[in-house]
Amino acid sequence: MTEQEWLSTTDLCAMLFQAHDAHIDSDRKLRLLLIACCRRIWNNLSHPQLRAAVKIGERYAEGEVSDPERSNAFLSAVRVTDNFNHPVRDWTWVRELAKGTVAHHVGYVSLLALFDDDWLKSNPTGNFAERPFQADLMRDVFGLLPFRTMRKIDRRRTNAATRKLAGEIYSKRLFRLMPALGDSLAESPVATDEMIAHCRASTAHVRGCWVLDLVLGKR
Ligand SMILES: [Zn+2]
Repeated sequence: MTEQEWLSTTDLCAMLFQAHDAHIDSDRKLRLLLIACCRRIWNNLSHPQLRAAVKIGERYAEGEVSDPERSNAFLSAVRVTDNFNHPVRDWTWVRELAKGTVAHHVGYVSLLALFDDDWLKSNPTGNFAERPFQADLMRDVFGLLPFRTMRKIDRRRTNAATRKLAGEIYSKRLFRLMPALGDSLAESPVATDEMIAHCRASTAHVRGCWVLDLVLGKR
């Protein structure tokens, strides 16, 4: 896949392989990507156990939840979804999204929510309707990192106000402030044009956003 193809494709599996080959598909990033996919279909997660599993998965990504708690949330979600009578049309994207055991449970929840009977009735094209949005989320999480070696940001050279703003956007989900982060980064010697442009773009940002992660030193 070329950089130009990456910017427009909706082939989620190909994108994941690209990220994997570039060694940037950390468990945390994959998990946050899946959580963002789940949050997009939040209204279709009609069972409390499913929503709980997503929230616990998110806290697990932040290191706030133990493995047994994560495991219990997953098993509760599985028990709920045992009652679904859903046709499985295409498992491929979730099998790829859920690669590795750590990110598995959120991928499973996302899949089953997409194939929930209620979801299918209201959205007969199923998961395919979500693909373009999921591809955009993947571009937010990985950016151009599969093709470029971004300088590791030296936090000593980053303005304290920039770091504070990035931290607040991340912790409080104030993604509408990303353009302000772009303005702040424009004053910084460590920011690249791509980072500034990403902050100012009108695309969706989520936890795991590649620019926020660079500024905050997360992987
Ligand atoms: Zn972003």
